[in-house]
Amino acid sequence: MTSPAPLRLPDADTAEQWVDHRATALLGTVQELADRLRTDPPASVLETLELWDEITLQLGNVAAVGSLLSNVHPDAAVRTRSELAELEADRLATELSQDRAIHDVLAALDPAGLDAQASRLLERTLRDFRRSGVDRDDATRERISEIRERLTALDQEFSRNTRDDVRTISFPAERYAGLPQDWLDAHPTAADGTITATTDYPDAVPVRMFVHDAEVRAAMTRAFLTRGYPQNDQLLQEMFALRHELATLLGYADWASYDAEVKMIGSGPAVPAFIDRIAAAAEEPMERDLAVLLERYRRDVPGAEQVTGSDASYYQELVRREQYDVDSQQVRAYLDFAKVRQGLLDVTGRLFGLRYVEVADAAVWHPDVTAYDVVDAAAPEGAAPLGRIYLDLHPREGKYKHAAQFTLTDGVLRDGSSLASSSQLPEGVLVCNFSRGLMEHDHAVTLFHEFGHLVHHVLGGRGRWARFAGVATEWDFVEAPSQMLEEWAWDAEVLAGFATDAAGEPIPADLVSRMRAAEDYGKGIAARVQMFYAAMSYWFHTEQPADLTAAMRELQARYSPFPYAEGTHMYASFGHLGGYSSAYYTYMWSLVIAKDLFSAFDQDDLFDTEVAGRYRDRVLAPGGAKDAADLVADFLGRPYTFDAYAAWLAR
Ligand SMILES: [Zn+2]
Repeated sequence: MTSPAPLRLPDADTAEQWVDHRATALLGTVQELADRLRTDPPASVLETLELWDEITLQLGNVAAVGSLLSNVHPDAAVRTRSELAELEADRLATELSQDRAIHDVLAALDPAGLDAQASRLLERTLRDFRRSGVDRDDATRERISEIRERLTALDQEFSRNTRDDVRTISFPAERYAGLPQDWLDAHPTAADGTITATTDYPDAVPVRMFVHDAEVRAAMTRAFLTRGYPQNDQLLQEMFALRHELATLLGYADWASYDAEVKMIGSGPAVPAFIDRIAAAAEEPMERDLAVLLERYRRDVPGAEQVTGSDASYYQELVRREQYDVDSQQVRAYLDFAKVRQGLLDVTGRLFGLRYVEVADAAVWHPDVTAYDVVDAAAPEGAAPLGRIYLDLHPREGKYKHAAQFTLTDGVLRDGSSLASSSQLPEGVLVCNFSRGLMEHDHAVTLFHEFGHLVHHVLGGRGRWARFAGVATEWDFVEAPSQMLEEWAWDAEVLAGFATDAAGEPIPADLVSRMRAAEDYGKGIAARVQMFYAAMSYWFHTEQPADLTAAMRELQARYSPFPYAEGTHMYASFGHLGGYSSAYYTYMWSLVIAKDLFSAFDQDDLFDTEVAGRYRDRVLAPGGAKDAADLVADFLGRPYTFDAYAAWLAR
C-alpha cells in the first residue's frame, strides 16, 4: 500500500504567498474537474463518482487550511488571505451545489454494480443536490437563493443585536459582597460609591453565581434575560417564517423535518418525542435536586415555595460547595499542564493502540506548536504513520479564543483509483487556550473532549471517499465520541497516572469522587433546563407563534425547574436559534449515545484493550461511511438505547 506524504506547511515568511498560490491552484483544479464533469464525464460510473469526490477533497483542502490559518497564524496578513481562501472555497462549493449540469450527469448514473460505499456516496450526493433545490424550476430556485441570502443576513443581524445589546447594573460597592477578589479588583468603585457590572459573561455569570445580595442577582438576571429585546423579536419571526418557506419549497412539511433528515434523529416529529422522553427521565432526578436546593434556600428565605430563576445559580453553587467539599485550589495543585498533556497522549495511546512520534523538523506556524506522527503501536519501527496531529494549546494575540479541533487535511486512501492525485494523509489540529502552569480540572476535561474529535478525524481518515472522511458523521452524533472520552478525565485510576502534585503525590481517589459528586449534583435540573431550550428551538420553528414571549412562558412552565421572571424575554438573546435552528436537542442526543457507548467499557478497567480496539475499529475508523446508528450497533452488538443515560441521571 502506498503511503501518502504529510502536507508540507510553509515557513513564516512565505506563508501568505503559499496560501495564495495553493488556493488559486486548487480552486483552478476544481473548476477544471467540474468542467470535465459537465462536458466530458468518464464513461465509467465509478470514475465519475471519483471525479466528484476529488472536487469535494480539493474544495475541502482549500477551506480547511483557510479556516485553520485564519484562526491561528500569528501574522495578520496571512490570517486575512486565509479567510479569503475559505470564503472563495465556500462560494465555489455553493455554486457547484446548484449546478444543474453536474447534477444531471450524476443523477443519470446507474448504481447497479457499485459497492455499498460507492452507492452510499451516490445516494448522499444526490440528496445534497436535492436539498439545495437544484432540481426545482427557475422561479423556485431564484426564491430559494433569495431566502438563503436573507437568512444569512438575518443570522448575522441576530448575533450582532445580541452581542451589541450590553446592559449594565449599578449598585453600591458593598452590595457585590461574595464575588472573588480578582473580580472586585478588576471593577473599581466609582466616585459615587457604586460598581457597574455588564451583561457580558465575565460579569453576568459570577454576579449571578456569587453575589450574596438577592436584589443584585435579580437585577442582573432581568438585564441579562432582556438582551436583544425588542429588536430581535420581529427578526426571529421573519427567520422562522423564511426557514419554513424554504423547507416547504423543497418539499418538506416544515423546517425541522428538513433539518432532521440528515441527522441521526431522522425526522422532525422525533425531536419533540425525544425532548419529552428526556424530560420524563429527568422528572424524578429534577425533583430530588430541587428538594436539596429548596431546603438550602429556605434557610435564607423561610417559607419559600420555589427557587426563583435569579437565585438558582447562586444556590446550586452553594449546595456544591457546602455539601461536597471540593476546593478547586487543592485540585489545581495536581494538574500541572505539562503532565496533563503527556497524560493525555499516554492515555489515548494506550487506549487506541497508538504511538505519537514527535516530528521535530515539521514546519509550524508558531513555536508553541508541536507536530506528531500518529503511528499504529503494533506496527514495526519506521512504519508509515496513520496520520499527523498538531497541538497548539496556549493563548496568544490574534488566535482563536475557544477550544476546537480543526482539520488540516481529510484523509483518503485511494489505492487502485483512476485519479492522478491519489491518497492523502489525515491531519488535524487541536487549538486551545490553556495556561502553562497549573490548570483547572474543567480544562483538563476540555482537553480530553477536543482530543476525542482529533483522534476521530485521524482514525476515520483511512477510507476510500473524501465525502465520508473523519468526523463526517451525522451532526447530532459528532459530539458523542468526545463526550465519552471525557469520562477518562474523571476516573480516579486514570488521573492518578498523571495528576500528581509538586512532590509527585497522585491525586487522592476520595477527592476525585467528591469532584464527581459535585459535578453530578444538579444534572436533573440541568437536563430539564436543556429540554426547555430544545423545546423552544423546535416549536418556534414548527409553530411560528405570533407571541414568542407567551409561547416561551408556556414551554418554561412545562419543562423548566424554575418559574418565568416577569418582564424577561430570554429567547431574544438565545443565540443557538441562529446556528442550531430547530435542533438544539443535539447536545443531549449525543450525550445519550455517549453514555450508552461508555457502558460497554469495564468501569473497573477503562484500559480494556479488547473493548477499546473494537470501539476504535467499529465507531471511529469508518468515519461517515455508515449511519451512526449502525456504527453504534456494530460496536455494542445491539441498537443504542436510553438505558445507560437514564441510569446515570437517576444515580
Ligand atoms: Zn466537541
